[in-house]
Amino acid sequence: MTANTLSPNSSTKVLPLLGRSLSELTEWVVSQSQPSYRGKQLHEWLYVRGARSLGDITVFPKSWREEFAQDPTVEIGRSQIHLHKQTRDGTEKFLLKLADGEIVETVGIPTSKRLTVCVSTQVGCPMACDFCATGKGGFRRNLAKHEIIDQVLTVQEVMQQRVSHIVFMGMGEPLLNYENLVGAIAVINKDIGIGQRNITVSTVGIPNQIPRFAQEHLQVTLAVSLHAPTQEVRAQVIPSADRYPLIALMDDCREYVEITGRRISFEYTLLAGVNDSAEQAQQLAHLIRGFQSHVNLIPYNTVSDADYKRPSERAIQTFVQVLEDAKITVSVRRTRGLEADAACGQLRGQHEKAIAK
Ligand code: SAH
Repeated sequence: MTANTLSPNSSTKVLPLLGRSLSELTEWVVSQSQPSYRGKQLHEWLYVRGARSLGDITVFPKSWREEFAQDPTVEIGRSQIHLHKQTRDGTEKFLLKLADGEIVETVGIPTSKRLTVCVSTQVGCPMACDFCATGKGGFRRNLAKHEIIDQVLTVQEVMQQRVSHIVFMGMGEPLLNYENLVGAIAVINKDIGIGQRNITVSTVGIPNQIPRFAQEHLQVTLAVSLHAPTQEVRAQVIPSADRYPLIALMDDCREYVEITGRRISFEYTLLAGVNDSAEQAQQLAHLIRGFQSHVNLIPYNTVSDADYKRPSERAIQTFVQVLEDAKITVSVRRTRGLEADAACGQLRGQHEKAIAK
């Protein structure tokens, strides 16, 4: 893997065109002494036709395209497909190579009429949650806005289907890359055309960032990775819980619901013998009672060097039953694409091990 000598937010010296709005693109073409309608053409070629270089944009005059080819300060900002794996259940997994050689993971998950993309926001992750493959791999840097957007376009192009849903549940902690996250959501919504209601942002919780995110007044779903009904158990698996206790996180979630009027989706990874007992289900029900929320249970997905186990089907069903009896809306996320190592960060982790050999 290439050594990263760049600062966390800058993967390239050149400001890429990908990620710019129609008006910004129009401004740019005009600054290049071109007629303003070329802005609309550029927008379409970037976000609909998937141009990877300015040379691809055949509606542009040949002389102008040749000029770009010589100009190192102009680039579109697409990543390269480094690895593409398909699984029997239809899930497709991608490792994308960024301009500085870093590798990031993206997954395309097709279901009957949907195509969901699981998007990464960081290369690695600094949160170090004990059961998470990405957390085990350490942190490299934040993704730039165009590197986030590129993932959606790549999946759409390769899978030849319009992306309908986005989940920010790939590598990294989205709320630690706040500006680029919010900027990417705007482009995914306005320029790629994916409804905000079809976008989910998943966070383990970062102090002050949940109320801040509420103030954006977006129609997206916020998913909060709770994973435990008590501070004690949460701190066992999530190191950052020491600095941001459960009680403070729940206060911020309450504020989020008040400000946005939107319910929160609580994610709860079930770890056998750690957080999956019927008593803990009761504690969870108590913790979120009266909250506008939904609980999404994720049976633990084995990560080779972690010490956790997936609960039995019976334990999962009992946990669900306790929550349902307490009138809490609950669903169980059955992980798809397990053979392609689709759990968070697994493919990249294995890829790194393989090239280190
Ligand atoms: N940093 C964000 C996104 C992480 S990935 C967050 O913490 O929410 C999305 C979800 O998958 C999180 O809830 C995360 O805790 C969970 N997850 C990570 N590794 C897992 C594993 N091996 N099995 C089950 N869930 C896992």
